[in-house]
Formats: sequence, structure tokens, C-alpha cells
Amino acid sequence: RAAAALAGYRGPGRTRDGVAVKILANVQDGAGARAAAAVHAEGVGLLRTELAFLGRAEEPSVEEQARGYAEVFTAFEGRRVVVRTLDAGSDKPLAFATAPDEANPALGVRGLRVARRDPGLLERQLDAVAEAARRTGSQPWVMAPMVATVPEAAGFAALVRDRGLVPGVMVEVPSAALLADRLLQHVDFLSIGTNDLSQYTLAADRLSADLADLTDPWQPALLALVQATAEAGRRADRPVGVCGEAAADPLLACVLVGLGVTSLSCAASSVAGVGARLAAVDADTCRRAADAALAAEEPHAARTAVRGVLGVD
Ligand code: PEP
Ligand code: MG
Repeated sequence: RAAAALAGYRGPGRTRDGVAVKILANVQDGAGARAAAAVHAEGVGLLRTELAFLGRAEEPSVEEQARGYAEVFTAFEGRRVVVRTLDAGSDKPLAFATAPDEANPALGVRGLRVARRDPGLLERQLDAVAEAARRTGSQPWVMAPMVATVPEAAGFAALVRDRGLVPGVMVEVPSAALLADRLLQHVDFLSIGTNDLSQYTLAADRLSADLADLTDPWQPALLALVQATAEAGRRADRPVGVCGEAAADPLLACVLVGLGVTSLSCAASSVAGVGARLAAVDADTCRRAADAALAAEEPHAARTAVRGVLGVD
């Protein structure tokens, strides 16, 4: 039955009782976007633009970047594509932009913070996105990684709006979740990066196998921050998605929907599984699953409780 449901998923994403939840894909280039469209992703929730930059001695030209972004826009013509600006630093060092000698790189100059040393790098990337949008007649959304403060969000939004694009920010740092209402006075959407948000909420390195129990996306503290962010989105009537690994787990996806997120973005290989599971569950059951997960003391108990609510083994 499960295999039949997977093969049968054609989108769009919705609960059994018809509440729409966009199921989008995380991709890194045009080929990935075409593969995601083939499995009925409704768009791209996270275009990781690092690919064009990593392992390069020099910054790719605006023209080279624009060609790459245009390929992704073309694969999802008329549909949502969310471009994330360069997320360099920490686990993704860049030869020409990031400091090689930081004692604590996960807490250092990474993501949007790279623009402090080199604002032109961000501006040229936004020029390339705008050029790709012009060529393809697209309306891409553009978000910054590792935003921690309201002025960072406001400054980024101004640069994005100047180019006729739609600005948003990622919620990957607890300060951003706590200030979600105020961020939404400046940007049009939020996207929760649960991989980094769990790292920074639990103070545990996301790459440490020894601490994987702490960075588990079922941690109730992480889910509480997702809920706070989604509620801010509802108050402002703005979309709030999840684009971290949490969105690829079909049971956790139901919890996230119950917490109030309006889109889920995951690897293309997970789109059908998430879509099929969500189509089998009513929105109210998602809310009860969310309450059960929030009330649990730790991830294992949260999973067990949610399986009970959803009636799966
Ligand atoms: C995240 O942190 O959840 C995220 C989506 O970004 P990345 O995994 O690329 O850091
Ligand atoms: Mg991240």
C-alpha cells in the first residue's frame, strides 16, 4: 500500500481534508530542479547556490551565475523558486570569501555575515538572480542564510527589493525565531532551516555523531521554536516554510504542518513519501500530533506519541 501511495503522488500537497501545504524541493542546480519537477515537487523551497562557488579560486561571474539560476527558473516556470544567497563559512569554506583562521567557525563569519567583509559579493549575486529572473520572466523569492537580527533582515530586504525581487530570511538561529514577528515587518516570508536551528538551539555541532541525539529534529525545544515562528507567520499572514531535513521525515512533516508551517521543502527523493503521508492525515490530526510532540520530553518519546496519534507503527 505504501509503495502504491508513493507511486501515486502527483501533487499538489494537501492534507486528507484538503488543506494546501506546498511540497517543494531542495536543489542545487538546473539538473536537480528538472529531476524535482519530474517527481511532482511544486517548486523549489531551497536553491543552495553554494555549488557554483565551492572549490573555486575566484568568484563566478554574474553571467555564469545568471545562466545557472535561469536553468532552475525554467524548470519551474510560473511556480515558486526560493533562491538562497551564498551560505559560505563554517562547514562550507570559500577560498575567496571566508576567513581561514576562525577559532569557532560555526559561530563565526558565515552565511549573510560574509557580506560584512565583502558586500559586493552579495550584491553581484543578487544582480545575477535579477538578470536570470528578467531573462526567464520569473518572480523568484530570495532569502538570506544565518540571519540573527532585525537590522540584518531589513538591510537584506532593501537590497532584494531594489532589484524587484521578493525578500525573505531563513530562521536558523534562535534569535530569529524569537523575533519572527519583527522580521516579518521587513520581509515577505520566512524559511526555517532546522539543521542549523537545532545546532544553535541545542548548542550541539550538527556534524557530531556523538551529539546526534541532541540535534535530532524531534527535540521539543526545536519544535517550540518552529511553532513560535509559524504563529508569527499566521499573525502577519505571511508564508513560513521548513527547508531543513526535518521536512523529509513523513511523520515529522505532519507535526510541522500541525505546528502551522505552510510549506515543506525536502530532497526530491523524499517528496512523494511526504506528500503521500500528508494526504492520508487530516489537518486536525496534524495539530494533535504537534501537541503530542511538543509535550514529549525527548525525541524518542515524541516519535512514539506521534505514531500513536497518526495510527502508524
Ligand atoms: C538548514 O540549516 O536547515 C538548511 C536548510 O541549510 P543547510 O543545511 O544548507 O545549512
Ligand atoms: Mg543552514
